[in-house]
Amino acid sequence: MPDFLFEPQVVSVPVVGSDVQFPVRRIYCVGRNYLEHIREMGQDERQPPFFFQKPTDAIVLNGATVDYPVATEDFQFEIELVLAISKGGTDIEVADAVDHVFGTAVGIDFTRRDLQLKARDTGRPWEPGKSFDESAPIGPIVPLGAGLPEKGPISLEVNGHVRQTGDLEQLIWNCAEIVSQLSRQYRLEPGDLIYTGTPAGVGAVVSGDHILGKVEGHPELRIAVG
Ligand code: MN
Repeated sequence: MPDFLFEPQVVSVPVVGSDVQFPVRRIYCVGRNYLEHIREMGQDERQPPFFFQKPTDAIVLNGATVDYPVATEDFQFEIELVLAISKGGTDIEVADAVDHVFGTAVGIDFTRRDLQLKARDTGRPWEPGKSFDESAPIGPIVPLGAGLPEKGPISLEVNGHVRQTGDLEQLIWNCAEIVSQLSRQYRLEPGDLIYTGTPAGVGAVVSGDHILGKVEGHPELRIAVG
């Protein structure tokens, strides 16, 4: 082991039923993947989804309180299913995608919506709106059982009120197609996470709010806003 100037940071996520953690390499997100959300954002629903990234240290684990982010007045939640990649590859075929996925988790794609829309309208990069500190909460990873999830309720509550509801069967591009498409743009490696897009109902939270994210078959994700 070489000496380091300071201690390298390792970001990892707990795995359900195991003492071994999933080390995170990169965080990819799908931009648009549920029809109703594309409509509520006023976007062209015939365009294919696109990918963006968040910094690895944006990960926030279950039970945490995140600071209300700086530089925004419109801090929004997006509930999403997350895929955890354990086998890398490029040009992965849809039929082979399942072999590359270790498990799935509940995640939130936190968004500084005002900055995202400003970037969109001025033709600038999305980073200020999407790729900021503490913007990627994730629950414990559930190892895959019988293949990739294809259906099941996904929802988000704020202070006990349901704000987002959907079903994984509403994904425009399903889990296998997302892995395949992403692998044609980047070389996937073990440790990559893919946030698969959010259903309709996105909205803002403020300091003191309590968020509860649910996807069938997964432990609930609880995040508070400080
Ligand atoms: Mn999203």
